[in-house]
This record gives sequence, C-alpha cells and structure tokens, in this order.
Amino acid sequence: MFASLSATPNHPKSPRAPRRHRHWRAKSRFLCAGRCITGGEGECPIAALGGVSGASVATWICLLLPSLLYFGIALPHLYQSWASRPPALFPASLLLFASTVALLLATCCSDPGIIPPRQLIVATGRREHLRDLLGHDLLGGQEPCGDPYEDALRMVSDQLRQQGYRWCHTCKIVRPPRASHCKDCDHCVLRFDHHCPFVNNCIGQRNYHFFIGFTTSAMLFAFVALPAILWTFSKPNDSDDSVTEAALPWYRLIVLVSCGVVAVCAALLVLLWLYHLFLAFSGKTTKEHRRRLDVRSEPTFFAARGPALVDPNDWVDEAALFAQSS
Ligand SMILES: [Zn+2]
Ligand SMILES: [Zn+2]
Repeated sequence: MFASLSATPNHPKSPRAPRRHRHWRAKSRFLCAGRCITGGEGECPIAALGGVSGASVATWICLLLPSLLYFGIALPHLYQSWASRPPALFPASLLLFASTVALLLATCCSDPGIIPPRQLIVATGRREHLRDLLGHDLLGGQEPCGDPYEDALRMVSDQLRQQGYRWCHTCKIVRPPRASHCKDCDHCVLRFDHHCPFVNNCIGQRNYHFFIGFTTSAMLFAFVALPAILWTFSKPNDSDDSVTEAALPWYRLIVLVSCGVVAVCAALLVLLWLYHLFLAFSGKTTKEHRRRLDVRSEPTFFAARGPALVDPNDWVDEAALFAQSS
C-alpha cells in the first residue's frame, strides 16, 4: 500500500537550506536534532525541565520509584528470607524493567503518524511523494478560500467524503479516514487513537504498538515487583530495630496509604490494558469507541505502522514557506 520513504522527491537541496524541524510551527517538539519528537502538552509545565508536562513526570516517578525500592530493598530482602532462591527472578524482573523503560521512551519520543501541514508540504516539495504514499492528494487539488465550512465542501470530493476523507481547516489538508487533528499537539495524526498526557504524545498509527507494549510490560513488571515491595514493607523485620515502638503506628499508616495508592494505580493499569485489548479485537480506536463513530472496523494493533510522512531533516524552501504563511 505504501511506497518507501527513501524514494526522495526532486526538490532543490543546498548546503544552507534550512531543515524542516527548524520550521515546525505545531506545538509538538523535535528533540535531539530531529531524531525524536514528543507532544505539545501544555498543562502543568515544569520550566526547569524544558516544559515537560507534570503528567509525564508523574509517569516516570511511578515507574522509577517502585523500581528503586524493588531492586534496592525488596529483592535483596527476598533473597535473604527465602531458603531456595529462584535464580530467574532477578534477570526476569530486570528484563521487564528494561523493556518497560524502552517502550515508554519509544511511546513518548516517536512519530505517532504526523501528517505535515499544507505549508510544509509545499515548502518541502513532497506533494507528489505523499500522494504516492497515501493514495490521495493532501492539498486537495485547489487553493482553499479560508472559510472552514466552504473549504470542507469544495476541497473534498463527494467520492472521497463518502470514504471518510475530511478537510482539516487548521492544517489545510485533506486528511485520510481515521486521521484526526490533535489540539494538544496542533497537527493531524494517522489513525489517531488519543492524546496521552502521561506519555506527552499522541497515540496513533505509528506508535500504537509501542503504547500497547509499554502497558503490557508495565503491568507484568507491576505483578512481579509490587507484591514483593508490599510484603517487604508490610511489617518491619524482627531483626530491624530502625522502626521504634512509638513510630510503629505511623509506619503502618504510611505503608497502608502507600499500598492503597499502589493498588489503585495497578488496578487502573490493568483496566487500561483490558480496554485496549478489547479495542484491538474490535478494530476501533479509543476516539471511535468513545464517540460511537459509525466506522467500519479495521485492524488497529494488528495493522502495519506504515511509513513516516514527516522527515525532520527535509530541506525547506523558505520563500515558499513564507508565501504560504502570509
Ligand atoms: Zn490538522
Ligand atoms: Zn497530541
């Protein structure tokens, strides 16, 4: 269905020509010289961390803090307490931790399936190339007049509209079926599932596998690590005199509250995983299921990622870009 992105279209390259990621006007941000992209979450920004959202910081804390307790205290405590040490426990839990971190990073920092906006398609000369990839002209064959209602009618043919193609008046493109505009990131995304503040990225066609892999791996790691942490901290060791008699009620209260918070987080993670398992088998995205959109069920998790439509190192014709922007 898709052609390879390596088939570079003909457009002028000059050593001084600016790269696309330097002209990115959406809220999403390119990192590491364009190698990574993350969302444009604006809520609870932490300026010291370069505007990282509070929700994504909370995700990393919820992953790293219990991991520290598990590998630093609970696992050595288990190995001391158990007469027969299970040799596979440490490598298995280390593997689950590593895969959870890797898949979370991949979900946070990979292209969810961004469709470039009109001015960048023109300025990078990739119109024909994107037409070959997607099977339709994103620019719609004529110039938009600027009126969202009129453009919605005249830029999309009846035939395409019946197939689910829609006009995005923000990006000024004809987006394919199941794509949607993310207002948090300010761009359209292929087979948009939802915008996740906890990973500060859209979840779409190209990072859905990473997202499902992350929730699966995190849930399995929680099943291994949380019981060990709770068992270790539920009562002080008989030989441990660090908790005095007077402090014991407070110790138990803190452990009880911590257990409650951890149990709620683990239960929510399991529910999220079950919900996406249901979506994967019903062939719907989160948005389609929540809004009860009458779409034909097609594979989501079981479909291919498809090629990237945005190359951050594309060469940009600045004159064409400014002409489009003005
Ligand atoms: Zn859009
Ligand atoms: Zn988004």
